[in-house]
Amino acid sequence: MGSGYTMRCPKCNYKFHAITGIGFMFPKAYEETVRKAKSGELGTEIRTFFQEHEDGAINAENVTLCCTKCGDLVYGKDLTMYVPKNKKSDKKEKGRKSDAAPKKKDIEYVSWMDLEENYTEFAKYPHKCEKCGGDMRILDENDDVLCPNCKVPLEVKEHIMWD
Ligand SMILES: [Zn+2]
Ligand SMILES: [Zn+2]
Repeated sequence: MGSGYTMRCPKCNYKFHAITGIGFMFPKAYEETVRKAKSGELGTEIRTFFQEHEDGAINAENVTLCCTKCGDLVYGKDLTMYVPKNKKSDKKEKGRKSDAAPKKKDIEYVSWMDLEENYTEFAKYPHKCEKCGGDMRILDENDDVLCPNCKVPLEVKEHIMWD
């Protein structure tokens, strides 16, 4: 299940599309993100992280990023890096998953709950603005989304939900 927004600036007609899925990550999206991270597609920081932390995990949630310099808005992945709190010697958690889970897998899906319970934040992904190179921060749900041009709050035009 997810929901999407189309946001519009009341002044200049700037449009921004966002899809939200707070607190929920798809196993497939997670795997894909980790694969990209390990291959270096997402930058050297995150590749180095996985080289140094084989048991590391990342937050593959979709988020809205806002440039702290120019205010540009981008829709992307959170990518905060996590390391396990305690080395798990036994994998008793395994039984929780459905019996059909394939054994041979190089990437293990880490759910949002696993991150909260068993992992601790290692570093935030250094999101950079494509337009100006400035630092981007992750907007949370309560933040106003401002038009990059006029700095006025965008209006939510359409709110779509699906499952
Ligand atoms: Zn505007
Ligand atoms: Zn920028």
